[in-house]
Amino acid sequence: DHLVNQIAAGEVVERPASALKELMENSLDAGAASISVDLAEGGSKLIRVSDDGSGIDRAELALALSRHATSKIASLEDLHKVRTLGFRGEGLASIASVSQLSLSSRAEGSEQAWRVEADNGLIHEAEPAALARGTTVEVRDLYFNVPARRKFLKTAATEYAHCEDVFKRVALSRPDLALTLTHNGKVQWRLKSESPSERMRAVLGNEFADSMLQIEQAAGGLRLAGFAGSPTLSRAGRDAQFVFVNGRFVRDKVVLHAVRQAYQDVLHLDRQPLYVLFIELDPEAVDVNVHPTKTEVRFRESQAVHRFLFHSLNRALAETRA
Ligand code: ADP
Ligand code: MG
Repeated sequence: DHLVNQIAAGEVVERPASALKELMENSLDAGAASISVDLAEGGSKLIRVSDDGSGIDRAELALALSRHATSKIASLEDLHKVRTLGFRGEGLASIASVSQLSLSSRAEGSEQAWRVEADNGLIHEAEPAALARGTTVEVRDLYFNVPARRKFLKTAATEYAHCEDVFKRVALSRPDLALTLTHNGKVQWRLKSESPSERMRAVLGNEFADSMLQIEQAAGGLRLAGFAGSPTLSRAGRDAQFVFVNGRFVRDKVVLHAVRQAYQDVLHLDRQPLYVLFIELDPEAVDVNVHPTKTEVRFRESQAVHRFLFHSLNRALAETRA
């Protein structure tokens, strides 16, 4: 089983940033209002995620580290209407199989916090821990037991940059969330709970915030909200397109294509501008179970989604020109 976990880890935990993503998603699923992240050496030495979410009961702590243990779906049926970010129950088990992981938690209403540690596939007995609320997961020495994978880690600066990407995506998707990020003991980001446009400014800068166009469209069970960058913005690069489907960061060809076409059509712009878009639709109309890292989705009616996005953006962009 340890081996199975390690193999799964290869898919789920490609690098420190993928572990960070799993941990932050768990915090979001637990209803956290604030999350702090501490990293050392780009995350390869330490990833610590603390939240003030609902916590985990002592009796469930060890289970949370075992493979396919999820509290989020109860049946295959549920898989078609996933509302949480996690659902496979392999995040923690995979990370634990390739690191020194400790999980501390104080369940809501519990008088005491408890901690379990995973060590080479062995889960130790729960011990009392000092934690006021929520959950803290500490991941040390990622890939210490898989030298072949450790070799593929890039420099700490590169791994940190990937972690920061993950952090920023969460920050953009949840302006109400208070967030901090430290790296090697230095505070990199400190974000208080704020309005969506304040959050855009804090994360993406003044130039974007001063010129961004707010979008709000709905039709036929589809909803599009967010902020589209002005095409004159100098800073539009390849990694400046943030798309969230039901709160989940995705890279999707259908969405990218529709947005690109709208910009091309109205503004004759043939590069991707900076934008942050939130698409909401019935969870049954989108398959999120495509890949373990879950940045891919499959729309059941992708043509309808494409049409809706294109027309919504087209209208919004055309209004600014008028
Ligand atoms: P999944 O998220 O797919 O359910 P994970 O392996 O990531 O699987 O987590 C396993 C279980 O551990 C979750 O279903 C949840 O019950 C619990 N858990 C993990 N992290 C947290 C957290 N930060 N707060 C509360 N519960 C958590
Ligand atoms: Mg998870």
